[in-house]
Amino acid sequence: MMKKYQCSICGYVYDPEVGDPENGVEPGTAFEDLPEDWTCPDCGAEKALFEEM
Ligand SMILES: [Zn+2]
Repeated sequence: MMKKYQCSICGYVYDPEVGDPENGVEPGTAFEDLPEDWTCPDCGAEKALFEEM
């Protein structure tokens, strides 16, 4: 089971099972495997501002 991560700014939850298809991230992509330049789709926060749920 891959871990979900939540944006500490806006509360968006990154669910690895869903991915972020609108931004080119396939379902099944672990948070750790997101590109370093991936940002929160809702508020633009960088990965470092996400917290494990
Ligand atoms: Zn956010």
